[in-house]
Amino acid sequence: MTDKLDIAGQIAELVKLQEIDSDIFKLKAEKEQKPIEIQELKDSLAQKQSGMQQAEDDLKNLQLKHKEKEVDLGTKEGEVKKLQTQLYQLKTNKEYSTMLQEIERHNADNSLLEEEIIKLMDEIDAASGKVAEEKKKFEEESKKVDAGIKVIEARIKEIEESVAGLKKKREALTPSIGQKVLKDYERILEGRNGLALVEVINDACGGCYINLPPQVINEVRMKDKVTYCESCWRMLYIRDESKEA
Ligand SMILES: [Zn+2]
Repeated sequence: MTDKLDIAGQIAELVKLQEIDSDIFKLKAEKEQKPIEIQELKDSLAQKQSGMQQAEDDLKNLQLKHKEKEVDLGTKEGEVKKLQTQLYQLKTNKEYSTMLQEIERHNADNSLLEEEIIKLMDEIDAASGKVAEEKKKFEEESKKVDAGIKVIEARIKEIEESVAGLKKKREALTPSIGQKVLKDYERILEGRNGLALVEVINDACGGCYINLPPQVINEVRMKDKVTYCESCWRMLYIRDESKEA
């Protein structure tokens, strides 16, 4: 089809082209959102991972503290034992009772330390539970995210195939439209969110909804030339009433 159509014929073809281009535009817009959706899933996983990391760090800190206190207690118990052996080498009652008091003071300190150790062991139990819980959350989220990303990637592929199909359809239509009209249409398409040719509905532009003056509507009806909306500069057309009826 190399013969160019008249304006009326070209507009009829442009109507079909616009339908295709609207679909392409919608699909492309959907595709553009996909990396954002993937990032959101990854962010959510990273959040769960940092929750797990935090729980592990908390547990490690408690375990370290526990170890320090155990060492501390061991040292202090050693001191008590040393004092106890010295106890029998003392000569006077006064020395003996002073030493005994010293030992009691140490023992009191040590039982406080033992209490702290018991408390720390309880905290370690709780922290271990928290680690297991956070790990489970992370693993569940990880599965969910992997599955979610697969779905999104499949959709991207589907969109790409649909767009390729639509572009083929498009190529079959464009040869019958004049170069100038087509270039103009494509320029508007680019600048006006994928909508270049709009229907006049109730005397208003179907693109920006402004009311059109009667002479513009007449021009559109005449189909002698391409008519533009003076507000959004899209191409206008009116559905053929006689054919529709
Ligand atoms: Zn308009």
